[in-house]
Amino acid sequence: MSSVAVSSPEPPVISDLPVIIIGAGFSGTLLAINLVRQGQAVVLVERDQAGLAKGLAFGTARPEHLLNVRAANMSAFPDDPAHFLRWMGFSTNDQAHRFVPRLAYGQYLRSLLLDALGRAGRLLRICTGHAIDVLIGNAVQSVVLADGRHIHGRSVVLAQGNLPPRLPAPLAGLPPALAVADPWQPGAIDGLAPDAPVLLVGTGLSAVDVILSLDRAGHRGVIHALSRRGLRPRSHDVAVVPIRRVPCPAQLGSALVRSVRQRAREVGWRVAVDELRPHTRALWQAHDTAGQARILRHLRPWWDVHRHRLAPTVAARIAGLEREGRLRFLGGRLRSAEPAAGGLSVIWRPRGTGQDEVLEVARAIACVGPEGDIAQGPDRLLRRLLERGMARSDTHRLGLDVDSAWRVRDAAGTPHRALHAVGPLTRGAAWEIVAVPDIRHQVWDLARVLAATQAAPRHCHRSTV
Ligand SMILES: Cc1cc2nc3c(=O)[nH]c(=O)nc-3n(C[C@H](O)[C@H](O)[C@H](O)COP(=O)(O)OP(=O)(O)OC[C@H]3O[C@@H](n4cnc5c(N)ncnc54)[C@H](O)[C@@H]3O)c2cc1C
Repeated sequence: MSSVAVSSPEPPVISDLPVIIIGAGFSGTLLAINLVRQGQAVVLVERDQAGLAKGLAFGTARPEHLLNVRAANMSAFPDDPAHFLRWMGFSTNDQAHRFVPRLAYGQYLRSLLLDALGRAGRLLRICTGHAIDVLIGNAVQSVVLADGRHIHGRSVVLAQGNLPPRLPAPLAGLPPALAVADPWQPGAIDGLAPDAPVLLVGTGLSAVDVILSLDRAGHRGVIHALSRRGLRPRSHDVAVVPIRRVPCPAQLGSALVRSVRQRAREVGWRVAVDELRPHTRALWQAHDTAGQARILRHLRPWWDVHRHRLAPTVAARIAGLEREGRLRFLGGRLRSAEPAAGGLSVIWRPRGTGQDEVLEVARAIACVGPEGDIAQGPDRLLRRLLERGMARSDTHRLGLDVDSAWRVRDAAGTPHRALHAVGPLTRGAAWEIVAVPDIRHQVWDLARVLAATQAAPRHCHRSTV
């Protein structure tokens, strides 16, 4: 794989400057591929060479982690819906409706990047490095890497993905062997005695990943999965039901909830939820700030479990573990935790009761999802942009504040001409912008806008190679 040493002893030639993309997960990689297809030079900056193109979601090495979207809907390209199926060699309906391992999807993304590198020649460059700052100029923007190198470009796109999760307050300060903040960090489940009880804080898809990995590792101890409501992700239907394109609902707030419930009674909840999918961004944006806050507070937990579903085989395994008494979903509030003889003594209060209960576990693993508040997150680059007033959090602190063209807004709310963001960082503007079927459209559109607003150079400037 080619990589570039980047420094700039000479002033750049502006017409040759590339778009610099920070982060080479799904979002950054697909934006880069779309841009070079439009004849636009790109430098793709990635700090983790091993995860190149795969990112966090598809860099897993664990075959038990399946996609939660059917293969038929996982093409990287909106104009070629069968692309992933062809890559997999799938030709039957049965194959198209499978949920394949995420690691296979990671290999697909890596092969797309390699193919693009082969075709694009000097138009696409990979730079291994950790971006720590962006300097915005009139025509030339610079990305500063931790080792002191600078890359010059016309535009910069932040594609850094989700921020790492943060430990819930009651677990803060505990030794990492007792309280794991990030369920995907290497070693999160290592070193546990096979019969040790474990607490997962969170009952969503991250918790399911950990449950499957514990199961596959032969863990026999009881897994307690605790969240406020104890809701677990629902299963996809085994049968595939075609979804009709319906108009965007006119109702908002509780009237919208009532109309979706009514629709669910007519067509089933899965179809009712899937029909909303093309309209979620419009519906989110149609609510005012107070309405959006109500959605986050009251509707989000329900939406998440109905919308982000499990592959039926995974759901069946989870149900089996529950039946065997090896897995318990708990609804309630984590109150405190302190080191004890066998690991941790945890106090929690079941939902709707005034009575605390105690759990003795060997380890607690936080499965609470990514941090949204960039001011609280550890990301050096985003914090620096925030401190310098070059960026701000969105109103609900789900990520960065961006305008409808994905341009990052500065502290005063003014969008930068040449600083964009894509992927989960833009959740505040888009709401549903975490899964491949959403992000592929976002990067497809942005690539066209960036290529159209910039003269298409034929090669990277020498200062970037
Ligand atoms: C565990 C998990 C499972 C998922 N499963 C599915 C699924 O089955 N189907 C589906 O459609 N969607 C799924 N998603 C959602 C979705 O596909 C991902 O959110 C999406 O891949 C996001 O890609 P990304 O490129 O924005 O972020 P990431 O994949 O996180 O990539 C960001 C990249 O940026 C790099 N980076 C960050 N900061 C810097 C910096 N300062 N300098 C240099 N590099 C930097 C990181 O090293 C990383 O490689 C899943 C998500 C997760 C977390």
